Amino acid sequence: MNILVINCGSSSVKYQLINPKQDNPLAQGLIELGAQTDHATAIGQLLEQTQDETIDAVGHRVVHGGDSFRDAVIIDSEVIAQIQQWVPLAPLHNPPALAGIQAAQTAMPDLPHVAVFDTAFHSTLPRRSSHYAIDTELAEKHRIRRYGFHGTSHQFVAQEAARHLNRPINELRLITLHLGNGASACAIEMGSSTETSMGMTPLEGLVMGSRSGDIGAGIIFKLLRDEVAGVDELDDLLNRQSGLKGLSGLSGDLREIETEAAAGHDKARLSIAVFAHRVKKYIGAYAATMGGLDAVILTGGIGENSASMRQRILQRLEFLGLQVDEDNNQDARVNHTDKVTVISTPNSRVPALVIKTNEELMIARQTAHLIAQQSRLQVDLHIPIAVSARHLHLDKETFAALFGDKAEPTHHADLSQPGQFACKEKVTLVGPRNRIEGVRLLGPLRNKNQIEVSRTDEYLLGVDAPVRDSGRVKGSAPITLEGPVGSVRLNEGLICARRHIHMHPDDAERFGVEDKDEVEVAITGGPRDLVFCDVLVRVSHGYRLEMHIDTDEANAAELDRSSQGSLVYTDIEGRTASLRNLKTS
Ligand code: AMP
Repeated sequence: MNILVINCGSSSVKYQLINPKQDNPLAQGLIELGAQTDHATAIGQLLEQTQDETIDAVGHRVVHGGDSFRDAVIIDSEVIAQIQQWVPLAPLHNPPALAGIQAAQTAMPDLPHVAVFDTAFHSTLPRRSSHYAIDTELAEKHRIRRYGFHGTSHQFVAQEAARHLNRPINELRLITLHLGNGASACAIEMGSSTETSMGMTPLEGLVMGSRSGDIGAGIIFKLLRDEVAGVDELDDLLNRQSGLKGLSGLSGDLREIETEAAAGHDKARLSIAVFAHRVKKYIGAYAATMGGLDAVILTGGIGENSASMRQRILQRLEFLGLQVDEDNNQDARVNHTDKVTVISTPNSRVPALVIKTNEELMIARQTAHLIAQQSRLQVDLHIPIAVSARHLHLDKETFAALFGDKAEPTHHADLSQPGQFACKEKVTLVGPRNRIEGVRLLGPLRNKNQIEVSRTDEYLLGVDAPVRDSGRVKGSAPITLEGPVGSVRLNEGLICARRHIHMHPDDAERFGVEDKDEVEVAITGGPRDLVFCDVLVRVSHGYRLEMHIDTDEANAAELDRSSQGSLVYTDIEGRTASLRNLKTS
């Protein structure tokens, strides 16, 4: 699926055409807006520039979704009206985004358009961090609260970090530092943003290229009384003349400041020191609010490129368990292919990672994900269910011992999975407590014995067998088999088969799952509907779509002919979202 990602600002339209499964875009560009080039013209130009590629959907970056959006959405008139509502809080950002959406919808009326919000990731902020300590009614009236920004970037690098650390995101406490021209910190607990340094607007928090970040509110009164002509001038002062630029008196570009600082420029040095100090202050604060810390991630133009700024920020954090490896820090290079570099020492309990952010890729992923969900709503999600009665698979040697040297398994009936068949041969299972007769052999013969029974059977036999994926019989329960010719004592082989779904790769694609995924399957349409968790997906070209459960499970769900199985999709971030992001109807 190719996603056109559009980021409309007041002076330019940036775009990338992205296949979310690839790291590098298929096409990208920037079109300057001007007297001759409005948003509609720019969209026309970008379509010309990408005409050799197919476009399946369009993802639009929208800065402010306020508290209206917790996630990406398909754009319709209601969504547009909502984005419009947040214009007063993002007067520089939302109007160009709306202009871009309108121009793109006109140019590509048949494609789905999706809005991805910078604020959405922070919709999980708890009340304690989203509230300012002002009159609550006044705050509500003017929608004054902390919304947070850069959410797409924080979410992207957090996911990359979890992948790199090989740990589930939902057991990590992360601090992500997006340090670019705009800069913000985020505390991410179990994959959710719980604190972030930008607030109602992107002016709050860290020192930025030209924004002041945190200042005492009293300063505003002072400046309004004694310095500036009015609110607009103050807005300009704090948003465009402050930060690194205001402190250094040079520019908001750290590269220039670092060069001057090296040459002894005092204000350049001061601006670097204030910038680093502010970031460090937030790291300490967020480690405290989270009650601990598992990794720190730096990203954005400064976080990705300035080794000396990283060093200033992260030095003397050993008390938090973080120790920087200065050589690794100096050598750290990240790009869209090599996204992650570890800059902490091997002994550092808290790893520090530099990660190349990729907001466009994240927008493309979220857009593709939403589109796939929508189309999945329209496909048949029905999964046929087969109930496996107790049965067994035998190896050649055991078969011969039970049925004789010359015997061959005889075909009784084909099974649903290609090549599999029920045999005429049956054996008796002999347990310490009871015997179960007439247990059918399934063919063809395998290279390992595997006897699959239900929990009720185990109780009857008097054995405890582990729940196992098919084929994993090592260390499973012992059992004695009796055949017409002889009996065999097996030291292992008895299992309670783990419920699973056989899928052809085409089915896996349709359901948005992969081999070895664990999914939830709802049984509906029967008298005692229920949801089975931890269902293993098994994908192979040799399989036909079918879920296998044992007789106990089937009885618990009172399966009847009208019962259906369907994947349950719930709202979980990240890759699992593709498994579980919509409810079965
Ligand atoms: P961004 O907004 O993410 O593009 O980041 C822009 C900021 O990153 C500017 O302050 C740049 O000066 C800074 N930056 C980019 N490359 C470097 C570098 N090699 N060294 C120091 N700062 C850099």
